Amino acid sequence: MNCPACNKEMVEKDFGGVAVDVCENGCKGIWFDWFELMKLDEKNEGMGNALKEALKSPRTNNEDREKLKCPKCGIPMHIHQYRNSKEVNVDECYACAGFFLDSGELRQIRDSFMSEEQVDAYAKSLIDDMPEYAKAKEELEKQKQRIAAINKYTKFLRVSYYITRK
Ligand SMILES: [Zn+2]
Ligand SMILES: [Zn+2]
Repeated sequence: MNCPACNKEMVEKDFGGVAVDVCENGCKGIWFDWFELMKLDEKNEGMGNALKEALKSPRTNNEDREKLKCPKCGIPMHIHQYRNSKEVNVDECYACAGFFLDSGELRQIRDSFMSEEQVDAYAKSLIDDMPEYAKAKEELEKQKQRIAAINKYTKFLRVSYYITRK
């Protein structure tokens, strides 16, 4: 699969039990496959070397970039800010539900864990921003699941996780 941002061939990596595609020879962006992410369960923990490397990669900013196309479906992806962070723009495909993070964004996301209520409010705000999806209840459900999965996924990346589980 080629990187949606720079078109280089992506390399599959194991991020603590989840297979992701990393643009190792290019922009260092990361592609998360929805079905991969859903395989993750609460017990899945630990941080592989690939993930450690990804957390080290520097933050890039491509604000002027045109909409990326989904590397799986080929359709333009939607861009939205992750929660209230202006610096983190998640590119996501509404067809396959996969999403792309630029280099350094994963590190920024891990510090913003959301409660269930916050997930609900955030998912709703995303839908409100997109009139074409406003009527699609299933889209709202999908968003909620996606955010919950990201929450779950980034949980073990936070220092507090290791402190509190002892
Ligand atoms: Zn790339
Ligand atoms: Zn797609």
